Amino acid sequence: MRKLIASAATALLAACSTSPTPNTQQTTAPVAMRDTQSAVNAYYRVAARVEPVAQTVCRTFHSNKSHNFCDFQVKVNTDASQPPNAYQTIGRDGRPVITFNVNMLRSFRNDDEIAFVFGHEAGHQIARHIEQTQANQLAGAVLGGILVAVGGGDAQVGVDIGGAIGGRSYSKKFELEADTIAAHIADRAGYNATIGARTFERTRGSSALLATHPPSAQRISQVSRTIQTINIAKSQGGRAPVAW
Ligand SMILES: [Zn+2]
Repeated sequence: MRKLIASAATALLAACSTSPTPNTQQTTAPVAMRDTQSAVNAYYRVAARVEPVAQTVCRTFHSNKSHNFCDFQVKVNTDASQPPNAYQTIGRDGRPVITFNVNMLRSFRNDDEIAFVFGHEAGHQIARHIEQTQANQLAGAVLGGILVAVGGGDAQVGVDIGGAIGGRSYSKKFELEADTIAAHIADRAGYNATIGARTFERTRGSSALLATHPPSAQRISQVSRTIQTINIAKSQGGRAPVAW
């Protein structure tokens, strides 16, 4: 059980991994990266505006949960040897923790991108994706164990395979849901979600993660639809409810 939950957490972290698309013309135009200090400063500046919005949205859906459930912690992983990544975890105190590593921060082109990715990570908490991934992995593990046992194989091997498939089969759906929530949060915090979502144009998963990453075009069109909904409501003097 403990092992399953640990692997579920790993799968969820992996689902959010991104790395800049390699430059195919290294000789002419290397990818510009910000210097570390200005990148970290930008992150805290944007997070100071986006986190309160994410917290408010979270509380509208989880008023029955403890105060900590929507009280996001903002962290930076300073390990410069890691590829660009951002992820959401749950701290020991039950607070959601949003962590961007330093290479992710250095790769951002503007504050709208930071706001969008921050909203995306908050979206995983708001839509309770960690809890659901753990449940899915457990269900997949139980089913896998039964199938292998029936077939006369090693039940533990079945448990591992089933768990992995259970977690992966929901990842694409969850990423798109988190993107939808991100568009609402970024917009409400005063950022341009359309510009922010363009961060997908230059990110891709490593080959092991392709299965959990919807193609960029699919993510961008999903965000475009959400922004349309937001703008229609604005033009009518209202505000689109957050939905995913
Ligand atoms: Zn994600």
